Amino acid sequence: MNMFDLAGHRARVTPNRPALEDLASGIAYTYQQLNEQAARFAAAALGQWGLQEGDRVAFLGHSRAEFFAMLFGCAKAGLILVPLNWRLAQPELEQLMEDCTPDALIFGEEFTDSARKLRASGHTRVLVDLDGKAGDCRHYDTDLADTTPDLAPHPDRDPDTPWYLLYTSGTTGRPKGVIQTFRMMMSNYLNIGLAVDLTGQDTLLNVLPLFHTAGINLYSSAVFLAGGTVLVARAFDPDQAMDVLETRATIFFGVPAVYQAILEHPSFSGERLRNVRSWGCGGAPLALPVARQFVEEGIRVRTGMGMTETGPTVFLLDEADVLDKIGSVGRPQLLTEIRIVGTDGQDVAPGESGELLIRGPNVTPGYWNRPDATREAIEPDGWLHSGDVARCDEDGCYYIVDRWKDMFISGGENVYPAEVERVLVEHPAVSEVAVVGVADEKWGEVGKAFLCLKPDSEEPQPEDLSAWCRERLAGYKVPKHFRVVDELPRNALGKVTKQALRQD
Ligand code: ATP
Repeated sequence: MNMFDLAGHRARVTPNRPALEDLASGIAYTYQQLNEQAARFAAAALGQWGLQEGDRVAFLGHSRAEFFAMLFGCAKAGLILVPLNWRLAQPELEQLMEDCTPDALIFGEEFTDSARKLRASGHTRVLVDLDGKAGDCRHYDTDLADTTPDLAPHPDRDPDTPWYLLYTSGTTGRPKGVIQTFRMMMSNYLNIGLAVDLTGQDTLLNVLPLFHTAGINLYSSAVFLAGGTVLVARAFDPDQAMDVLETRATIFFGVPAVYQAILEHPSFSGERLRNVRSWGCGGAPLALPVARQFVEEGIRVRTGMGMTETGPTVFLLDEADVLDKIGSVGRPQLLTEIRIVGTDGQDVAPGESGELLIRGPNVTPGYWNRPDATREAIEPDGWLHSGDVARCDEDGCYYIVDRWKDMFISGGENVYPAEVERVLVEHPAVSEVAVVGVADEKWGEVGKAFLCLKPDSEEPQPEDLSAWCRERLAGYKVPKHFRVVDELPRNALGKVTKQALRQD
């Protein structure tokens, strides 16, 4: 069995089924066409572009249909795809390019200047222009058209061969290239596909960036394995998303910021979105008021938890538990083992909080070029340190308490900002909140809350907010500083970047 020949397998089994459609360009591929495009890509990469097995190919562009031809083309050619975060500034892109040293860079026309600079500064050799407008670069369509695609099954590979690299979002430090393998993709497919009952009849609307595990693997790659259809949005556009969710999508995955925007859409109603049979959310905590409002509209949003390092699916809440276990990320999925350990490395007592460790075939073999970081994160016996604090309730449902690194110590007591945020976001005037620890002469550190207000609500006084917290939290957890802001700083996936707030 050739596990790497996924596109070829689908082309043989369901050649005429729609594999994907690009909502911006209108480009659509059946599985046969996707396989052919992938084979042409492999031929062009190894031919005209002069790449060799094991080389890296970077991609700088918005989400688009061609991305998946590149992904499956890399599997055919034995190349490693590196989707770059297009929001990064030039020096940040250079940093990633220095880390993964790609021989070729494929880019969309919006990034022509940036791509040219990367070639001029010696960060790559070949530039391939997806839109065919740059005279001094190779043209993607022309080069692919000039090949004779080899549609025979390509050589099988070790399932642990690096297939693509995903750089972590850098929420907590310098981005690291997380190696993604065929084994991880297959495991994620089993983890998520079984939990959601994915079938070839499913249509996914993907609004998340493809340089992030949520966009590429949740559930896009899993939908391809099931033989379903992926609708690729260039970026999240609430109007477009509402239309597609109403008329075409049967499954959807979003991060909390996306769910918040859907809820705030003027034409949002549960009735309108009945076509979608499964709603998933992860990447960051979903605020409880938001989860409850969806439930009131008859939509059960299933929260889950995962990491780039885990393919990503680890936990997913069962649909039947959404009402009773609101706030939980559910139970571990099929191929994952879980431990919760204290600072002494021993398993904590049931119900207690500790660091979440994860093991299974969905865990990455490591970080590109970073044996030190790999050793730090993954024990020799395979346990991955998530850096998250979690606990498990008496029914086996898990809760993410917070990130270890976000915890601060006030007067000798541990404070988990996420706990404080859960209380503040329930305040009637507050729409979003982020809490960080800041230095304090008396207590060592104290909480500082950054708040966004609901439209038309009056700005609450710090004393009111403090009193609100005091009624619901121990005194040492109550923030000493409150600041109202227009918006919270967020990364490309919509996660709050707390280091930016700490410096504020
Ligand atoms: P970096 O590793 O660069 O700091 P990151 O941690 O954001 O970035 P990702 O792999 O994108 O990297 O995110 C994984 C993390 O996201 C998890 O470790 C966890 O902290 C958080 N997370 C994911 N899902 C949830 C959830 N449902 N609730 C709370 N936190 C979540």
